[in-house]
Amino acid sequence: MSERLLELVGVSKTYEADASLWARLMGAGGAVRAVSEVDLTVTRGETLGLVGESGCGKSTLARLILKLEEVTGGDVIFDGRNVTGLGPQHLAWFRSRVQIVFQDPQSSLNRSYRVETILASALRLHRGLKRRSDLREAAADLLRLVGLDPAFLDRYPHELSGGQRQRVGIARALSVEPDLLVLDEPVSALDVSIQAQIVNLLHDLQRRLGLTYVFISHDLNVVRYLADRVAVMYFGRIVETGPVETIYRRPRHPYTRVLLSAVALPDPEHELPTETALTGEVPSPLAPPSGCAFHPRCPLAQERCRRERPELREVGGVAVACHLVES
Ligand code: ADP
Ligand code: MG
Repeated sequence: MSERLLELVGVSKTYEADASLWARLMGAGGAVRAVSEVDLTVTRGETLGLVGESGCGKSTLARLILKLEEVTGGDVIFDGRNVTGLGPQHLAWFRSRVQIVFQDPQSSLNRSYRVETILASALRLHRGLKRRSDLREAAADLLRLVGLDPAFLDRYPHELSGGQRQRVGIARALSVEPDLLVLDEPVSALDVSIQAQIVNLLHDLQRRLGLTYVFISHDLNVVRYLADRVAVMYFGRIVETGPVETIYRRPRHPYTRVLLSAVALPDPEHELPTETALTGEVPSPLAPPSGCAFHPRCPLAQERCRRERPELREVGGVAVACHLVES
């Protein structure tokens, strides 16, 4: 057992969009770099929060971790094993260890199956259960685990509320007893009143089952509550990563500062600059900016930022990719 459950080494994903009308209209060669050279380590039992504006590459990174798509560069190491080119014969092993929970359980649960059937298909494969009564009992246990009455086994997804559906989504992910759960905006589609219940359930399940989470969210308060470490993405790259409290108390990257200005507690020692509103749009992936991708929107950008791309480097217990952050 490796302490480092998941390691991403220089992970990149480029989509060849050559045929798309949009790409041709933009006059670009057609390659979209959704994720660029991401290095990340997730330790067993921890929660890594992944944050950043819409379109910055979070869901793509999630699909790459899950091997729902293949990387176009770099390596994914799971529990000490390089799973990048893993053949179909080992994919079942991988699928029993890494699972995903999507934002919208409405579309991720098959609407024509009852909850029992949804849960039983994974149980049959993973636990080798065959008898209907055994499968039903195991499915009922899963529902209890996520705080649902076993009576829900006989319902269809459309007969459930959003929160109940997401509980079923979580139960299905847990049916194979995974080590790692990737949660891609798991509460964003839910009513605010329900969000806290699901967040508490996830927190509780992690403690009881010793799970490791990659938690993607644009709710920065929820990330602070759940995550041990956080990684901030901008335009396909990690721009800052480190312990969640260190970064929330003193965000260093100008992008992180703006992102967190809405939720950060005032820190008298490190006054945030007054220019805390993001101006301009996220750049088009078909026309990436030179140098630091954030420079067109950065209130502090200098000539160097236009020319040279900053690398992640260690500063005060976190890693930051910005020329202007002093060591
Ligand atoms: P996020 O989850 O952070 O909102 P995504 O990972 O969904 O971001 O998208 C990152 C970038 O990759 C976006 O510019 C998006 O348009 C592009 N992208 C995602 N999937 C594809 C795809 N299948 N083909 C082409 N481009 C894609
Ligand atoms: Mg997404």
